[in-house]
Amino acid sequence: MKLLVLLFSVAISSFAFANLHQAPPNLDFGNSTAGVFVDFKTAKSVLTYNFGTREVLAETTVEFFQPVKGMPIFDLVSEPSKVLIDGLEASTQLTSMDGVSRVRFINKVLEPGLHTLNVSNEVSKNVSFSSTTVRSAFWMSDLSDRRYMEQYLPSNLEYDQYQTDLEVKIVGTDREHQINTNGSISELSKNHWNITYPAVYTASSYFYHLFEKGAYPQDTKIYKSIDGRDIPVIVYTNQSVSRFMNETLKALAELEADYGPWPHAQVIIYGAGQGGMEHCGATITSYSALGHELIHSYFARGIMPAHGNSGWVDEAIASWRDGGYPGYSSRSLSRTDMAGHSTYQRTTDRDAYTKGMRFIGHLHSKLESQESFKVFLKSFFTERKFKPFKTHEFKAAIETFYSTDLSSEFDLYIYGKKGVDKDHEHKHENPHHPKLSEQELFNLL
Ligand SMILES: [Zn+2]
Repeated sequence: MKLLVLLFSVAISSFAFANLHQAPPNLDFGNSTAGVFVDFKTAKSVLTYNFGTREVLAETTVEFFQPVKGMPIFDLVSEPSKVLIDGLEASTQLTSMDGVSRVRFINKVLEPGLHTLNVSNEVSKNVSFSSTTVRSAFWMSDLSDRRYMEQYLPSNLEYDQYQTDLEVKIVGTDREHQINTNGSISELSKNHWNITYPAVYTASSYFYHLFEKGAYPQDTKIYKSIDGRDIPVIVYTNQSVSRFMNETLKALAELEADYGPWPHAQVIIYGAGQGGMEHCGATITSYSALGHELIHSYFARGIMPAHGNSGWVDEAIASWRDGGYPGYSSRSLSRTDMAGHSTYQRTTDRDAYTKGMRFIGHLHSKLESQESFKVFLKSFFTERKFKPFKTHEFKAAIETFYSTDLSSEFDLYIYGKKGVDKDHEHKHENPHHPKLSEQELFNLL
């Protein structure tokens, strides 16, 4: 009995965030060879900003579990300069996933079990050197393919969660720099840090911004959470810090009243004037999108989409709040396939902001005689926090909460099973998530 208990607790601790059940089906490479989705256990990267070469080198070690024999899949957009698998040199290749996305895989068949991957790559995206300073950021987007962590460091797809340790060194300048990031950061010496990111983080969770000290006016205040925690709120911007700070504190109180305690250890607001993009307890945002980005710390980076087909849920919810939680009749709904794309799709369908929002408002109208949909959302958030979900699980949770069957509504309005209403509405850009060009993002360093 004791042995059983022990085995059980070991299993729980090693597989607490083993999300292979949310991974897409393995790929068929032909000749009976599979491309296999794996479970990252830990990742450790050393990031060196070198003023001599004006290059940024990332050296990463990933421990991963591979469930079946085949070639392991991970992702890194840029070509790595060196790859070792279990200590032996290996090569990687890119492959298509169902024509909707691409991933990188290791060109070697591995047996099931634990493996060690070492990858060296240059980070050149969103890096800017001057003679004595360097700026660098992990800007991300859910509107374009492969725009999460894989742009910078070897990472897994959004279904997976793992602890990342990041050591950052700046070599060759006396100017003092700082990093604003949503991990636990310690300064080892000037321009040398260690950052530990929570084990619940996925590829879209990280916020990381390095710049020379004093580059931005910054203020920190303590927000007292309803659960008693003191939560540091860091605001930095070239616009009005106090205006962003006041609005942030107001939004935090509103969101905690509706959905419960703030789910992250901190709040970081980069008032870039453009954007935004949501991360775990952090955002790069315009002033007008601030509330929208903050609710994403509950819905998007609290409850987390496991793939592109569940990305609509959080944009629909955030947009529903933006509009003041309105109700909608079925007459205002449109048929969409927001969750009917390939299971390999990694981006969010833009119909979410409008048609998805009205669908959520419609569920509210339909079900509020039992209970407001906000009350359901609070319960869903509380139960699913930090467990990547798919649309069918969201649907099932609503059905259980309200003891109802929503199959025909989801088939019609979400899965596209009866066709899709074509119009140009979705082509209008959402004001909170304008799709920024690579140059525009670079300019926000
Ligand atoms: Zn959004």
